[in-house]
Amino acid sequence: MSSKKRPLNTLCVHAGNLEDEKYGGATAPLYMSTAYDYRGEGTNLYPRYFNTPNQVALGEKIAALENCEAGLIFGSGMAAISAVFMAFLKTGDHVILQRAIYGGTSHFVDAEFTNLGIEFSFIEHINAASLEKHRKVNTKMVYIETPSNPLLEVVDMTVVSAFAKANSLTSVIDNTFASPINQNPADYGIDIILHSATKYLGGHSDICAGTVSCSQKHMNQIWKTAKNYGGSLSDQTVWLLERSIKTLGLRVKQQTKNAKKLARYFEDHPAIKRVNYPGLKSHPNHKIAKSQMRGYGGMMSFEFKKSVDHHRFLEELKVVKVALSLAGVESTILAPTQTSHSLLTPEQRKEQGISDRLLRFSVGIEEVKILANDIEQAIEKSRKIAK
Ligand code: PLP
Repeated sequence: MSSKKRPLNTLCVHAGNLEDEKYGGATAPLYMSTAYDYRGEGTNLYPRYFNTPNQVALGEKIAALENCEAGLIFGSGMAAISAVFMAFLKTGDHVILQRAIYGGTSHFVDAEFTNLGIEFSFIEHINAASLEKHRKVNTKMVYIETPSNPLLEVVDMTVVSAFAKANSLTSVIDNTFASPINQNPADYGIDIILHSATKYLGGHSDICAGTVSCSQKHMNQIWKTAKNYGGSLSDQTVWLLERSIKTLGLRVKQQTKNAKKLARYFEDHPAIKRVNYPGLKSHPNHKIAKSQMRGYGGMMSFEFKKSVDHHRFLEELKVVKVALSLAGVESTILAPTQTSHSLLTPEQRKEQGISDRLLRFSVGIEEVKILANDIEQAIEKSRKIAK
């Protein structure tokens, strides 16, 4: 495992705290104002400028968790991702991206980059040779998602950051699946770290948000673009997100522990054809995952053999919820072809290796035995009778 140990629970609880100086309360006060006195020293405060007291404090917490100088909070993961793209790319530039990433991001690239005249290359296996092969004179950015949604591909961050530095490119990672608890890409030289905070950072399936962490220099550039696009998050939700992050370390630790046990259970299960989980020795990128992650996370995907009707399986689950999104305290499952990757064409999904039978499983904090029993009873009821 990555040896980079950090006091993550303490950072979750104490970093970037907005103190209640008036009453000494243990939790942060909530400043809902959209109108602040602009006279005197200092900057003009305004929610769309990302600089109200609650936004700034949470930005500091995110930055601390990701071991970066600066952090910014957005209204969704896609608002954060699109602001970063738009801050660093212009017509005529070229971007290299990992092929199998979150469907919303690849759809954004296909649709918006094409409109804007930004060139892009999606590449299958990211390594030094494939990056070099796709590099062009106008390449400006390399974008990865590791572990990726939904196939749990793991990319070597050291290789990506070395390539970016050698060629003066901006390296960007979507770190949503790992969360800052299991992986800190800045430690491996990645420039910009993104999260859909709708997932682990929020963690209770009740917040839609996004974050960016990076150096102050990169942040200055992102902020200029972000305030024009206007994708900030309401202070009330910022407050709620800050509250949720206090338990991030505990939640993710439990989810990671549960997922490891369930991945082994799936791997040995006679009804299952394949399971994608970076913590399994059978995972093709296990060694890379081991070298750069503290834990392998709470996400996995798997495919049943043809003897199980996977639609029926979803119908029969009682504890695990069939639901869009992921990383809440409750276990959830979905079919990417109908949800996260439904905007891709069948050909694009096939190219990425996302079959109609693939199920993506987000492991919650429930007792493993209860989850395993639920899965087992659903499998039993979904077996196809041989004719
Ligand atoms: N990145 C990943 C890995 C995701 O799974 C998602 C959403 O599922 C996003 C980004 C987009 O985040 P949001 O839905 O908060 O805009």
